[in-house]
Amino acid sequence: GRVTNNFQFIDVGRADPDKKNLPSRKTEYVEIYDPFTKAQVEDQSDRCLECGNPYCEWKCPVHNFIPNWLKLVTDGNLFEAAELSHQTNTLPEVCGRVCPQDRLCEGACTLNDGFGAVTIGSAEKYITDTALAMGWRPDLSDVVPTDKRVAIIGAGPAGLGCADILVRAGVKPVIFDRYPEIGGLLTFGIPEFKLEKQVMMRRREIFTDMGMEFRLNTEIGRDISMDTLLEEYDAVFMGMGTYTPMKGNFPGENLPGVHKALDFLIGNVNHNLGFEQHPDAYINLKGKRVVVLGGGDTAMDCVRTAVRQQAEHVICAYRRDEENMPGSRKEVANAREEGVEFLFNRQPVEVVEYFGDACGVKTIETRLGPPGPDGRRRPEPIPGSEEVLEADTIIMAFGFQPSPAPWFEDAGVRVNDWGGVEAAEHQKFGFQTSNPKVFAGGDMVRGSDLVVTAIWEGRQAAEGILDYLEV
Ligand code: FAD
Ligand code: SF4
Repeated sequence: GRVTNNFQFIDVGRADPDKKNLPSRKTEYVEIYDPFTKAQVEDQSDRCLECGNPYCEWKCPVHNFIPNWLKLVTDGNLFEAAELSHQTNTLPEVCGRVCPQDRLCEGACTLNDGFGAVTIGSAEKYITDTALAMGWRPDLSDVVPTDKRVAIIGAGPAGLGCADILVRAGVKPVIFDRYPEIGGLLTFGIPEFKLEKQVMMRRREIFTDMGMEFRLNTEIGRDISMDTLLEEYDAVFMGMGTYTPMKGNFPGENLPGVHKALDFLIGNVNHNLGFEQHPDAYINLKGKRVVVLGGGDTAMDCVRTAVRQQAEHVICAYRRDEENMPGSRKEVANAREEGVEFLFNRQPVEVVEYFGDACGVKTIETRLGPPGPDGRRRPEPIPGSEEVLEADTIIMAFGFQPSPAPWFEDAGVRVNDWGGVEAAEHQKFGFQTSNPKVFAGGDMVRGSDLVVTAIWEGRQAAEGILDYLEV
């Protein structure tokens, strides 16, 4: 241990980990932030004021014991910090990397009043990465096995969060995913520059050692029926995500040269990882002029992937202003540094064609009007302000809607009017669906959201399942 300093936050300012140099960031699929060193993480964690009623913990969707593990790292008790961190979070090293901390834990830090929030996310990432590298593993030696087995559909953050709680209660989780690797969007959506692929590959080994069983390349409803799961397991959890891309509803959006964001990102991941796919599935933007439409996390991941594919020019066009972008501020700044051009207050009205191929997108300028039903100010087009942005490739990143499968109805799983599965948190058995044996959580229940909220719902649903199974 070391002597801690109550006024560390005055002597030591907030410092984020160093970033890799721009030339390598623009060409390589590697995380752009270097890991904290031991000295850096101890110095930064020591800035925590240990507030009596920590706002950061309340703002964190999984309610991590943040000041407690910051204190443990400050004192050099790394394994204890990792143990504590895993009591509330299934994937702490992932959340440390991809949570929009400025809107969550760090946004609530008392030190935001002029001193700079504690670098909570980077400390959380350091704790688990370093502890795992040093051989620490979650301790399940006290677990008493039961004879219960639960089928989990989807190995994304919701499914994994659910499996984590079940396995620690002695219930066997068997996790099915149609993809060849676990992680859901952590593996097939979020690119390497935010989250390197070996993080989830390492997790697969750890989770397997903990007693989770993965059945990959297996789609429920095609390779195995829901009926079979309902027959063979004591309960079923669905964490299948949202995979219907929202349309632009303007002319030309089906032209060759116009792509959906997730097709582009998944094609790139499969290409980088060497997984089998149809040759057309890899969309290569080398030398292309690219316009990405949208302003969320998905749009940011597309523009930055386009840069790494050596596109000639990359524009992000968004219909609101920068203040009202839904994506993480940090990633917008990173995209800008990497050479992406941002055009705000631009709404697409049409994809223009040249002999049948997309050759640009016509946009119209907008100003922000009064708030719409979602509480966000609506962009209103300014007549006469149309302009064509020339482009060889246009990527549409307008978000996702639920994708309820036809077999939901037969399984007695009800969806609401926008297609989300009905499974409320606050009922006798949390996150139970209209079929008492089936629970659900994550994006397919709440709509596209965040990794950390999906983990939380998966974990809460597991508590509901344990109550239901009377374990
Ligand atoms: P998913 O992660 O979608 O996992 C669902 C899994 O279910 C998939 O693996 C799928 O293959 C499987 N599945 C579906 N149907 C079947 C079936 N019938 N049989 C078998 N398996 C099935 N969030 C953040 O917090 N930070 C970010 O930086 C961030 N960036 C993002 C970038 C992109 C490009 C996208 C698209 C999303 C991003 N998100 C981010 C959101 C986040 O990834 C999701 O909210 C989260 O992954 C949802 O978790 P989930 O478990 O509900 O679903
Ligand atoms: Fe912050 Fe996300 Fe970690 Fe919670 S899980 S402490 S919100 S980075």
